[in-house]
Amino acid sequence: MGPPGAGKGTQAERVAAEAKLEHLAPGDLFRQAVKQQSLLGSEVQSFMEKGELVPDEITIRVILEKLDDIGEETGVILDGFPRNYNQAVALDEALEKKNKAIDRVVYISVEQPELVRRLSSRWLCRECQSPYSSESAENPHLEGCPGCGGELYQRADDKPETVARRLEVYFKETAPLIEYYRKQNKLIEIEGEGAVVEITGRIIKALE
Ligand code: AMP
Repeated sequence: MGPPGAGKGTQAERVAAEAKLEHLAPGDLFRQAVKQQSLLGSEVQSFMEKGELVPDEITIRVILEKLDDIGEETGVILDGFPRNYNQAVALDEALEKKNKAIDRVVYISVEQPELVRRLSSRWLCRECQSPYSSESAENPHLEGCPGCGGELYQRADDKPETVARRLEVYFKETAPLIEYYRKQNKLIEIEGEGAVVEITGRIIKALE
């Protein structure tokens, strides 16, 4: 968990690779659906463009179906789900039916001015989804993705008005879940400012 720009996607990807877990992110699934112009893509596009949450019935269905596909033997890092109380309860209930539960919730905290700065300089690879900052010394968006050579682009919902709305939605809908998981003794709070590798190190150490 964490606000937009906290580094959830980057860290989830790195921790999943390190700990051999599946990485499941509704934001990635929805962006892919929009790109492929699928039925799901047409259902979610307008919400994403406005910085609003996609309706729960769609999001919960998509994530629970994916969890079924992944199977019960594989551990999963959920990135960007749940994002409100309704989703958290639906997830707990679905896991309970399988005698499973969330083990830990990693909350990455970053101050708001830093979030806005990060989101407005964020570029993503169209091929492998890796994020890069236009503030980095290599200026990778001029050259393409340093990882796979793919074209880099800026997310439509990273424009300033949409960023403001996404932050508002986060504080209203998602931030209350921090207490929900703290009460269950599942919350691990990680300071999200610093080098990417350092933050991954903090998360792995805390999980161990
Ligand atoms: P993200 O890549 O996590 O920043 O998500 C991008 C957008 O996808 C969000 O602004 C929402 O419109 C939508 N989205 C992602 N996760 C959820 C969720 N759990 N519930 C509803 N909408 C979501």
